[in-house]
Amino acid sequence: MTKKIKLFIPGPVEVSDKTLAAMTGPMIGHRSGDFKALYRAVYPGLQQLFQTRQPVFLSTSSAWGIMEGAIRNLVKKGVLNCMCGAFSDKWFDVSKRCGRHAVPLQVEWGKPIDPDAVDAQLATGNFDAVTLIHNETSTGVMNPLQEISDVLRKYPGVVFIVDTVSSFSALPIPMDDLGIDLMLTGSQKALALPPGLSLFAASPTAFERAAQLHDRGYYFDLLEFKKNAEDFMTPSTPTIPHIYALRSKLEDIFSEGLENRFRRHVLTNRLVHEWVNANGFEFFAQEGYRSVTLTCIKNNRGIDVEEFAKQIREEHGFQIDRGYGKIKGKTFRLSNMGDETVETMNPLLEALTETLKTF
Ligand SMILES: *Cc1c(COP(=O)(O)O)cnc(C)c1O
Repeated sequence: MTKKIKLFIPGPVEVSDKTLAAMTGPMIGHRSGDFKALYRAVYPGLQQLFQTRQPVFLSTSSAWGIMEGAIRNLVKKGVLNCMCGAFSDKWFDVSKRCGRHAVPLQVEWGKPIDPDAVDAQLATGNFDAVTLIHNETSTGVMNPLQEISDVLRKYPGVVFIVDTVSSFSALPIPMDDLGIDLMLTGSQKALALPPGLSLFAASPTAFERAAQLHDRGYYFDLLEFKKNAEDFMTPSTPTIPHIYALRSKLEDIFSEGLENRFRRHVLTNRLVHEWVNANGFEFFAQEGYRSVTLTCIKNNRGIDVEEFAKQIREEHGFQIDRGYGKIKGKTFRLSNMGDETVETMNPLLEALTETLKTF
C-alpha cells in the first residue's frame, strides 16, 4: 500500500475528491445535445474568469499544445519570445521548431521581463507576435502584465500571446482590458484539475491573423475551434471527464466568490513568505515580482534539498518540489495554488520547520 501523498508541487497540484468524483459522469456523444449543454454550462463562467467577451475554447491537450498552436496560428513575420525561466525559454525553442522567425528577449532567471526592453524590440518592426508567460512557474516570477500590455497597445499589428497556466483564476487577469489576443491556461495548476485539458480564448485580431496563415495544421487550428464553438462543440473528441470536472470546479469557484478566491491566494502566499523569512531563506524571484500562487525559495542555507524533500514526503506525506531545470537543488518550490487554504498550508509549513531542524 502506498501512503496518500498530498501534492504541494506547482503542478500538477492536489485535486479534491469532489473534482475527482465529478469526472465519473456518464459518457455522452460529443456531437450530442448533452455535450452542447455541458459546454454551454461552463461557457459563461469561463468568459467571466478570462474577463472576455470572446469565445473560450476547450482543448484536449496540455498547455503546450496551445502554446505551439499559438505560434503556428499567429506568427507570420516574427515572434519576440519573452524569456525569464524554463517555460518561457522553451517557447523560443518551440517557435523555431515551428519554423518561425523567433528572437529571444532573455533576462536572468529570477528577474521579470522589462517592459522597456519589449518596447525597444517591437520598435524595430521585426515582429507581429509576442509571447509572455504571466507567472513563470520555474522561478516564481510574476511578470508586470499591465505594463507590458501598455507597451503592446502602441503596436496594433503585434498579437499578444499570454500564458496564464499557473496564475489563471488566482488573481484578476482581464484579457480584453489588457488587449490580450490569445490567453491560455492548463488544467493541472491554478485550476486544480487533473492534467489533460487546456482552455484558451482569442481575439478578433487573432482570428484575422490565423486566416492569413496556411500551415496552421488541424488539431490546434484556431478557426476550427471558432467554427465548432459557435455550435458548442470542439473540433475533435474532447476529454469529457475533464469538462465534467471543470463544471464542478466552476461551481466551487463561484460559490466561494472570486474576491474570496483572490484573497485566499494572497493569504496563503503570505504564510509561505513568512515561513521563508522566519527560517533564514531568501526568495529566488526579485522583490516586487513574486508570484502569489507559488514560492521559489533560494537554497541559500545550502541544505540537501533532495534529502529534505524526501524526508518531508516519507515522514509527513507532503510532496514539495526540488527546483526546476538548471536551478534544481539550488531552489525548492512550494505551491499554494488551487484549493489550498490557511488551514491546509499550516501543516505543510509545520512539517517543513520540524524537518529543517535536522539539516
Ligand atoms: C506547467 C506549465 C506549462 C506547461 O504545461 P504542460 O501542461 O506541461 O503542457 C506552461 N506554462 C507554464 C507557466 C507552466 O507552469
